[in-house]
Amino acid sequence: MSTPLTVSFEVFPPKTVDGLTQLTATVERLTAAAPSFVSVTYGAGGTDRERSFDAIRAVRSVGVEVAGHLTCVGQSIADVHAVVDQYEALGVSQIVALRGDPPGGVDARYSAHPDGYHRTADLVGAVAGRFDVSVSAYPERHPQSPSLDHDLDVLADKVASGARRAVTQMFFENRDFVAYCDAVRARRLAVDVVPGIFPIHSFPAVSRFAARCGAAMPAAIASRFAGLDDDPCATHEVAADVAAEQITELVAHGVRHVHLYTLNRAELALAVCERLGLVESVTAR
Ligand SMILES: Cc1cc2nc3c(=O)[nH]c(=O)nc-3n(C[C@H](O)[C@H](O)[C@H](O)COP(=O)(O)OP(=O)(O)OC[C@H]3O[C@@H](n4cnc5c(N)ncnc54)[C@H](O)[C@@H]3O)c2cc1C
Repeated sequence: MSTPLTVSFEVFPPKTVDGLTQLTATVERLTAAAPSFVSVTYGAGGTDRERSFDAIRAVRSVGVEVAGHLTCVGQSIADVHAVVDQYEALGVSQIVALRGDPPGGVDARYSAHPDGYHRTADLVGAVAGRFDVSVSAYPERHPQSPSLDHDLDVLADKVASGARRAVTQMFFENRDFVAYCDAVRARRLAVDVVPGIFPIHSFPAVSRFAARCGAAMPAAIASRFAGLDDDPCATHEVAADVAAEQITELVAHGVRHVHLYTLNRAELALAVCERLGLVESVTAR
């Protein structure tokens, strides 16, 4: 019998107390899919770190394992370690170690904090003894990267420093993910590459975001959302179908774990899981 598919979810820290209450309810609903963990994003530069701590508390209150994202951009090593200590105190067992974007966004030139970590691999090395560490991966190349080969060099450094898992940026062409995994295997990197799946809750919004991330939107997917911009119910159904079909094809390529970007919404993530047989029928919407 083949290994069953497992799932994890990404959420972000809400800005308000109401948002935090809603996040707790969202994560409670997501437990129906028995997630291996829920990851909580972290603002680049660490300015909103208290919000990440609150979100982590909310997820932990539901009894789910948390992966805390942590970026090193714009922070000294001492600042980063204050966050690491707080993560440990909050019961976080996993860290998603990242560089993060400079204040100008993905297009701005990156320079390390004078007292900070210079490379993501250095951050990975600093936390790998205390946490299970995941990192990012870019099947279609990071927008700032000169080549896919350079991305793989960066991944190799992060793995050598102790990363066990690499969660991908969103992608919609499975062949890019499969080719990336082949390249990782050819380099004999001991890392699980986990596909990051972004259900298309709004085609205009997600296609804009995908373009910024360098993720190609196939015409075949665009055509399925044609004419649905003002129809959230139909968009929901098509989005769940598209994500579930993408995952089903990845499973045929040997994938056994997927990470779903939820945008703090339970319904669509659960509708995807329902189609994959990971949860019973989704009733409450
Ligand atoms: C799964 C996932 C989760 C994320 N979570 C968050 C989050 O919680 N908070 C947040 O702020 N951002 C998050 N990001 C976004 C991420 O911070 C940005 O993509 C950032 O630009 C790169 O960070 P990284 O850790 O991926 O960088 P790295 O893995 O260090 O580098 C990514 C690529 O960028 C290129 N690169 C990096 N540094 C240089 C350099 N100095 N010169 C030339 N090329 C370089 C390399 O080709 C490299 O492969 C996430 C991304 C992913 C995929």
